[in-house]
Amino acid sequence: MKLVFCESCQDVIRLQDMSEPRYCKCGRSGGFYEADGLHAHYWGIYAMPLGFANPSLRLALDKQPTEGRGRDFSAFVIPHSCPTFKWHVTESEAWLSLTDSDGEVPESHEKVKAVV
Ligand SMILES: [Zn+2]
Repeated sequence: MKLVFCESCQDVIRLQDMSEPRYCKCGRSGGFYEADGLHAHYWGIYAMPLGFANPSLRLALDKQPTEGRGRDFSAFVIPHSCPTFKWHVTESEAWLSLTDSDGEVPESHEKVKAVV
């Protein structure tokens, strides 16, 4: 699961499909998943990419104790260079990155045309 932590407002946002880009509380950071559900984009100079290791999160949720300390799960900071999670300075730069070399929006990204 990909998330964005905004170092300006301390908000953490879970990314969703490109039809519903998400923004932090202060609006300086945001992101979305591409239609394939794997590749994602985020933006903003305060944005830090985070990941949850889904199996460890699922296990911790399933094993929630009735009291005491809950089970740890794995969260990590995603490296600057990640083939499936690309950083952009601005939101518009993120949307423009979805266009191919001809400046055309690929068919899988039709929804983007209304935004760009
Ligand atoms: Zn923010």
